[in-house]
Amino acid sequence: MASGANREPTPGPVFDEASSGTARGDAEYRRWAPGRRIAKNGPPVRVARKRKGLIRRMMNAEPRNSARPTAYRSLAREHSGLLGTYACTHQGARNTSTSRHQQGVGPLFGPAATRNGTLADELAGLTRPGELCEPGADGVVRCVACAHQCRIPEGGSGVCLLRSNRGGILRVPWGYVSGVACDPVEKKPFFHLLPGGEALSFGMLGCNFRCAFCQNWETSQVLRDPEATATRQVVTPEMVVDWGRRQGAQIIASTYNEPLITSEWGRDIFALGREAGMLTCYVSNGFASPQVIDWLDPWLDAMNVDLKCFTDEGYRQLGGRLEPVCDTIRALSGRGKWLEVITLIVPGFNDGEKELSSLAEFLVSVSPDIPWHVSAYHAAYRMSAGPRRTSTDALRKALEIGRSAGVRYVYAGNVRAMDGSRHECTYCHSCGHTLVERQGFRLLRNDLRDGRCPVCGVRIPGIWSRNKEQQDD
Ligand code: SF4
Ligand SMILES: [Zn+2]
Repeated sequence: MASGANREPTPGPVFDEASSGTARGDAEYRRWAPGRRIAKNGPPVRVARKRKGLIRRMMNAEPRNSARPTAYRSLAREHSGLLGTYACTHQGARNTSTSRHQQGVGPLFGPAATRNGTLADELAGLTRPGELCEPGADGVVRCVACAHQCRIPEGGSGVCLLRSNRGGILRVPWGYVSGVACDPVEKKPFFHLLPGGEALSFGMLGCNFRCAFCQNWETSQVLRDPEATATRQVVTPEMVVDWGRRQGAQIIASTYNEPLITSEWGRDIFALGREAGMLTCYVSNGFASPQVIDWLDPWLDAMNVDLKCFTDEGYRQLGGRLEPVCDTIRALSGRGKWLEVITLIVPGFNDGEKELSSLAEFLVSVSPDIPWHVSAYHAAYRMSAGPRRTSTDALRKALEIGRSAGVRYVYAGNVRAMDGSRHECTYCHSCGHTLVERQGFRLLRNDLRDGRCPVCGVRIPGIWSRNKEQQDD
């Protein structure tokens, strides 16, 4: 991270009329955001359709690689009031529409930062002393927020460029978001966690990986890549949780960028979310250290781990290693955290039959009850060569591999109505009864009875209620 003056996070006064209760923030959110809750007070259908069409055109114009950025950027600039400064979400372009609408309300929490050469300096100021660290000799600190476990000398920063050593103190990100939205929990994706629930989703900036196919590179690579344009808005945890509470969120998710590297910030928001009755979750690459898993234990209910491939060689291309991710999956399962796994099927990178079989067998060896989402890739970032997207045949093959290995719940995602949305539904692993019907992120029907199949009575793994006793019985 570039050096910059240390200063305490700016606590406000960004919580202006744009986000206060009945004022402009909520009103505009309702005006632009699609979905169930919005429909009552939403704009006339004709207007909504027109805006949806614009967003779709922008998404189609978007090459998401640095070779052809101009058309997209100028279109985005032209409509910057609609798109805001936010780029995309964890999943592929098709699945970004909800968040794009939501980001399109303009700044929920006051004006966004201007993207310029000083972003790194601004972020260096938006920090606090970290907890996930160990002191070393000669002023060196060891960060343990992720499996890199960087030893950071005075004045330096870790692999993520976000956590830095200033005067022998580890400074960690605090006091801003890159985006915040209320999304269906199915979008994270979690399919066995309060189906149909609203997830208050927030993220910061930066990542400890550098995936060439990152579907969210504008946020994750903003400190490494001058082409990335995501920025930040200064907020407090109270503002984020209060806004989510007013939207009726039952779940709070640290997502959009890699949450492990911003764990102190996530924990502070989760603590307030818990008080508001929300379940807490990470949407993470799972490259965790044993220390951060211990530290998060009291604050975390669930994690979606992006298991990106199943070879160490593949992981090294992304800037990580396979074994720590496998360790995270084992550790979370052993601690009784709710866990779902997603794999973006990237043609030519991880779609070999042998590799996917090994991956599925590993999941079953931990627990056959871990849902596995196989998700379609869309050409993104630096992977502009080769196939533009995962074929439906490749997704069907991955589904079949998962089922043959013994994974009880395998889902296909990021693909429109493949085989009539059959692969988005939850079926009882014992009798085959259709328990939860979905279409995309929409919940059509939930036939579970107290977390059990209504036909054969078997308990279905997941968190189906905020009442802990019910899920544990
Ligand atoms: S979060 Fe990970 S990459 Fe960043 S400084 Fe800490 S150990 Fe290094
Ligand atoms: Zn059944």
